[in-house]
Amino acid sequence: MVLIIGGGIIGLSIAWRLIGIGKKVVVVDKRNLGKEASWAAAGMLCGRLDLKPSEKQLLPIFEKSHYAWPKFAKELENKSGKSIGYRKEGTLMIACDIHEEQKLKNNYNFLKNNKVNISWLSGNKIREKEPYVSNNVLSGFFSPEDHHVNNRYILDALITILKKNKNNCIFKENTKVEKIITDKDQVIGVKTRNETIKTKEIIVCSGAWTNKIKNIEIKEVPIRPVKGQMVCLKMPKGTSLLKHILWRENVYLVPRDNSDLIIGATEEEMGFDKSLTAGGIYNLLKIAREVLPAIEDLSIVESWSGLRPATRDEAPIIGPSKKIKGLIYATGHHRNGILLAPLTSNVIKNYYLNGKIENDFNNFKPGRFLI
Ligand SMILES: Cc1cc2nc3c(=O)[nH]c(=O)nc-3n(C[C@H](O)[C@H](O)[C@H](O)COP(=O)(O)OP(=O)(O)OC[C@H]3O[C@@H](n4cnc5c(N)ncnc54)[C@H](O)[C@@H]3O)c2cc1C
Repeated sequence: MVLIIGGGIIGLSIAWRLIGIGKKVVVVDKRNLGKEASWAAAGMLCGRLDLKPSEKQLLPIFEKSHYAWPKFAKELENKSGKSIGYRKEGTLMIACDIHEEQKLKNNYNFLKNNKVNISWLSGNKIREKEPYVSNNVLSGFFSPEDHHVNNRYILDALITILKKNKNNCIFKENTKVEKIITDKDQVIGVKTRNETIKTKEIIVCSGAWTNKIKNIEIKEVPIRPVKGQMVCLKMPKGTSLLKHILWRENVYLVPRDNSDLIIGATEEEMGFDKSLTAGGIYNLLKIAREVLPAIEDLSIVESWSGLRPATRDEAPIIGPSKKIKGLIYATGHHRNGILLAPLTSNVIKNYYLNGKIENDFNNFKPGRFLI
């Protein structure tokens, strides 16, 4: 039996892939399943458009997962019988002044050099695509292939599929893993508040909380929480103010099929504090209003925050522990865990089949931070 710590998108999609190769899994979550970062996300599959210079090593895995998404989505919908709200209109990256434009041009040139299908547009061309966009928008680029999904629907679809396989997948909700138990550097189980669960194989998918589990070495998997606040507005039914994702600097607007308009997200180093702040929400609305003034009259339907699992080099940590046998990590997906779920789950499945982590992930192994 494989014990998976954490029932977010990473733990659940790995559970799905492992039962597909005949494994039995137990998914343990300290809360109900899928109620942390994976629930809080915006569901964008376009992390490659926003890569910072220090993150360029991520482009190959982003691209691979990006192209795996359509098949993953179809399979999820077929197997669960539920829609996951996959939208294919594409993404507009926009700039409102020459500084933003210069920064965006650097991203554009980097992506173009890497053969990403994007085109540079004037402000007017952007307004032809999105008539409600304000004259503040100077220029930008369009990617027709950078899509988005409804992450909450995905969690629901994954849970539905796994529940249909209850002989091979057991859920233990509201069960916090406190400690990994080992014997001579081999995993032999986990300790929760109420019980000890015996197992020789553990996959750690506990997101931002990974370093709170005893016997997980912070030097091997240094993960910290990065808070993101979000706000959701309701667009008038039948009059979508936006068809594409609109992304300016650190703020994006994501239109959903049900007329929701998601605006996110702050990036804050506030430890495990998840409180919503006036400044955080104000800033999101202010920037969004500058590019889409029509949001002024929309009602606010919800606001929330989540904790991204970030690492020191902003890259995920995937593969077996260097120190403890039977312990595998699939965590640290930071701003792009929804995008990376198809690839990460596949890589872990292949590890179980071949005993190897694929070469694409050579730079993302646990232990790379150990000196
Ligand atoms: C505001 C915001 C917007 C985002 N937008 C996007 C986006 O548009 N696109 C994208 O690709 N990514 C996005 N992300 C990032 C993405 O949400 C994360 O990278 C991804 O959800 C990580 O998935 P996970 O399963 O590792 O973590 P989580 O979803 O956080 O799951 C971890 C699970 O582990 C459980 N757990 C933790 N510790 C224990 C323990 N000791 N015992 C038992 N259970 C435990 C938790 O309860 C939780 O359910 C966003 C994140 C935020 C916060």
